[in-house]
Amino acid sequence: MPAVPLPTSLYAATAHPAPLTPSLDADRTVSVAIVGAGFAGLSAALHLAETGIDVCVLEANEPGWGASGRNGGQVNPGLKFNPDELLGRFGAGLGERMIGMAWGAPDFTFDLIRRLGIDCDARQNGTLRAATNTLTAKAVETAAAQCAAHGFPVRLLDAKETASATGTGRYPAALLDPRGGDLHPLNYARGLAAAAQNAGASIHRDSRVIFVRRQSGKWVLRTDKATVSADKILVVTNAYADNLWFDLRKSLIPVYSSIVATEPLAADLAARILPHRPVLYESGHITVYYRLDKQNRLLMGGRGPQRVLAGHSAPLDYLKRYAESLWPGLRGIRWTHAWNGQLAVTPDHLPHLHEPSEDAMIYLGCNGRGVALATAIGKQLAGRLAGGQSAGICLPVTGIKPMRFHALWPVGVHAAMIWGRMKDRLGI
Ligand SMILES: Cc1cc2nc3c(=O)[nH]c(=O)nc-3n(C[C@H](O)[C@H](O)[C@H](O)COP(=O)(O)OP(=O)(O)OC[C@H]3O[C@@H](n4cnc5c(N)ncnc54)[C@H](O)[C@@H]3O)c2cc1C
Repeated sequence: MPAVPLPTSLYAATAHPAPLTPSLDADRTVSVAIVGAGFAGLSAALHLAETGIDVCVLEANEPGWGASGRNGGQVNPGLKFNPDELLGRFGAGLGERMIGMAWGAPDFTFDLIRRLGIDCDARQNGTLRAATNTLTAKAVETAAAQCAAHGFPVRLLDAKETASATGTGRYPAALLDPRGGDLHPLNYARGLAAAAQNAGASIHRDSRVIFVRRQSGKWVLRTDKATVSADKILVVTNAYADNLWFDLRKSLIPVYSSIVATEPLAADLAARILPHRPVLYESGHITVYYRLDKQNRLLMGGRGPQRVLAGHSAPLDYLKRYAESLWPGLRGIRWTHAWNGQLAVTPDHLPHLHEPSEDAMIYLGCNGRGVALATAIGKQLAGRLAGGQSAGICLPVTGIKPMRFHALWPVGVHAAMIWGRMKDRLGI
């Protein structure tokens, strides 16, 4: 299958040039081969190369082509579940480690960006999780209490404080976590790729792995031009998983999320929207997320068609109308870009880590929270690949479980969207 170009996103239109990552055109042997150059693969490659391990990344398209180069740019702390639910489910040991990793991931990411000097408009102005009705206000209150009990520096905002933080009276409450923030995701992905190369990793674009097999004690990965022979492998293809690994694609739902972006807003209008420039996601059955970027463009994201958008943005008009209902001053503003991409949703809404053998690892499923999480987990995956079984990872290791009726996922997602919208409207 030939490489697919990047979508015509705001990020593709404004990114720094990509580092040179020639396609694999000759056979080679390495210690670790990684399939997929998103944040997870690039972070793992960087941290492996920094410990002197010979690592190569094979990417079907180009670094950052997947969810990593086209997401909302929100660097958000946490997982879908509150800390107490994680402790109840995984116990004090693993539960505490999962909490530490997931809520600490934004600090880890911003520290990494500073250490590597990546130019990607990174700002740590906080994440707002905003309630849209009485029910979600209760959920936000519970999350705030549990995060505070864990010593996290969060603050629960009432309706008045939320209105002055957002510039709209839409929300009854919000949870502010100052450790969140935003960045230009494609520049971050390209910066990570360049840093991994500087540390000694090799990265090959236009190099889809079409076949992987065990042969004479090694892993052999074949592209259409050459093969890589490796002691260990890491597969991090996330929602873009193909049939490379048996049943992997069927273990996740590759949900499309869409984003629309405005032209840069005039300073007085921009000052009325998220004046302190946190990012925001709504707490509800259907998530809307937004931020103002460094150039004061508004980026609004949410559910849209479950297929490639391909320049046809009419289905996203609802997001534009919603933005105008929050801030009527936006009427008449030009919306310049619309695009979408796929993120991996797992049945239990948790990231999945598989270790089909001692020298093979698979990671997927940030469930829409992968900017910080995939970066942080990338380092842990590198530790495990470098240090063997003894190096701990803050996630449970599970088997790959294909979903029944997986082929019907677009119908299921569509039905869930309609049902979710109805529940959000009714506040149930
Ligand atoms: C529209 C959208 C908005 C989002 N917004 C946010 C947000 O604001 N904040 C947040 O935290 N998260 C967000 N996410 C989720 C986040 O982007 C992802 O969780 C994260 O980028 C996943 O990184 P990854 O490395 O696991 O996978 P990806 O970045 O998807 O990378 C997988 C790579 O594998 C490659 N690949 C697949 N098969 C092969 C093969 N056989 N051989 C070689 N290469 C292969 C693909 O080409 C792709 O580049 C969003 C996602 C989308 C789509």
